[in-house]
Amino acid sequence: MNQFLSRRTFILIPTMSILKIIFKPMQVLASSLASKDEWNLSKDEWKSRLSPESYYILREEGTERAFSSQLNNEKRKGVFQCAGCNLPLFLSDKKYDSGTGWPSFWDPIQGSVETKVDFKLIVPRTEYHCSRCGGHQGHVFNDGPPPSGKRYCNNGLALKFVPD
Ligand SMILES: [Zn+2]
Repeated sequence: MNQFLSRRTFILIPTMSILKIIFKPMQVLASSLASKDEWNLSKDEWKSRLSPESYYILREEGTERAFSSQLNNEKRKGVFQCAGCNLPLFLSDKKYDSGTGWPSFWDPIQGSVETKVDFKLIVPRTEYHCSRCGGHQGHVFNDGPPPSGKRYCNNGLALKFVPD
């Protein structure tokens, strides 16, 4: 019995520490820091600027329901801006229909987004956010169309469309 217990403990301890390492990033999920000090707003300041739905996406890295955004079907020419700080993130000529139910783009405006790896679904994914205010936008995948081969899968609630 004792031997059994100690063997179990022997297996359990390394397993626990591996799990700890894997799950650690889940605790640092809070949205990314702004690059500009004037956009390092407090929670309350963000809450007063944003709708509760947009706050959940932009500041808590939430995800809206697929096919819930009108921007999914937006086909006019224009600019998609960050709903948090109005920084232009995507041009309409880089938008395409990915069939996923989220506005999708194959290339952002250069320098407008930054990425980090998140583990929300355990499997690592590449999160991207507005490079100015740090607001979460979506995730980028490697199954997009040429020439980039990237799919920037964006929450419509994190964007503001400004037609030309
Ligand atoms: Zn922003």
